[in-house]
Amino acid sequence: MSFSALSLTPQLIDTLAESGYQQPTPIQFEAIPAILAKQDILACAQTGTGKTAAFALPILQQLLAEEVPFVSAKAIKALVLVPTRELAVQVQQSFVKYAKGTDIKVGIAYGGVSIDAQQAVFKAGIDILVATPGRLLDHLRQGALSLKQLSVLVFDEADRMLDMGFMDEINAVLKQVPSERQTLLFSATLDDAIFSLSKSMLRDPKLIEVAKRNSTAAQIEQRVYAIDSDRKTEFVSHLVRTKNWHQVLIFCRTKQGVDKLVTKLNQLGIVTQAFHGDLSQGAREKVLQDFKLGQVKVLVATDVAARGLDIAELQYVINFELPFVAEDYIHRIGRTGRAGSAGLAITLFSQEDALLLEEVEAVLDKRLPQQWYPGFEPDFNKMEPDPRRNSKAAQKQRAKKRALGGKLGGKKR
Ligand code: AMP
Repeated sequence: MSFSALSLTPQLIDTLAESGYQQPTPIQFEAIPAILAKQDILACAQTGTGKTAAFALPILQQLLAEEVPFVSAKAIKALVLVPTRELAVQVQQSFVKYAKGTDIKVGIAYGGVSIDAQQAVFKAGIDILVATPGRLLDHLRQGALSLKQLSVLVFDEADRMLDMGFMDEINAVLKQVPSERQTLLFSATLDDAIFSLSKSMLRDPKLIEVAKRNSTAAQIEQRVYAIDSDRKTEFVSHLVRTKNWHQVLIFCRTKQGVDKLVTKLNQLGIVTQAFHGDLSQGAREKVLQDFKLGQVKVLVATDVAARGLDIAELQYVINFELPFVAEDYIHRIGRTGRAGSAGLAITLFSQEDALLLEEVEAVLDKRLPQQWYPGFEPDFNKMEPDPRRNSKAAQKQRAKKRALGGKLGGKKR
């Protein structure tokens, strides 16, 4: 299956060929014809599936096909709402790449940087805007933008936008866009919150699920190493050195945790940088660039900051700690194994995270077997009683076992 079979224009197909895209990914295969047919979309697709091109290409094609030459009447026709600045930059860059050789202008709006510079770009005229909700509202309040001519509204990583508490901002934006429009909602996970959002915004949408609901991309190998928490840093350093890993993304739960690990790894001689919300936008971009260029070997990030990171060859993700929100595990490991390349996601599991691992397994609907790494086996003398034994799930299992007279079927653990 080639891109031409999806009725894309030769100009776009040439650009894709230049970018080395030989054939559409499954999400592109399903979404592009539906979007070109003006359908609303509810798509469950994780980062790394090629979802950006799945909406960007048909939007560009629709603009290129407009009868009124849009160049002479610059107004925002498509708006892409994203949860984070990093994703905004990445999505805008993708649009710019695919719009090469056309007159389509793509603007960007996100917080933490000068509002005036963004408005100067809007004044010159843009056709597509990629924005985070808060900064978009600032621009709208100042009258720097109008969404009255909008024909396509995209929500990218909608689940993350809801997690980050953007519902009020989303409602405020919805008040300013025409009700007659096409709406495309992309989310890494589908749950009740997403379904209720989609009900309020989408008209008879086509549901596209490229991976199993709440599942992880198949090409990511997941390993869980049981280890004492006080040996995790030493273990990471051992892995990076002995395996000669060049680009490793590590997740911690808190900014403090990130900073602590960064200091320790640097002390151990591994060039490491932090990536979290306390860094200015400029600093984040610099760190990301250094990481992409291989000048920084290890990037230690919090969940919010890492959303939207797109590093083509990222092969290794380490969960130094499991996330408090089990769905974040899927987002984290989705940073590797992108667009078909293989990835390895390692979780460093210590006893106190037993309940969190159980929740991750419940979301994945899959057991993640624990293993030991030679030389880093957990010290059983230090171990606390397993908190899983007293979790609700464990209590239920024991009750079931009693009821079955000692036999326990069901999910293998
Ligand atoms: P996304 O899921 O949109 O973040 O895309 C993940 C990565 O896949 C990006 O680096 C894209 O440039 C790349 N990509 C998207 N579509 C294709 C395709 N059809 N063929 C090859 N690479 C692609």
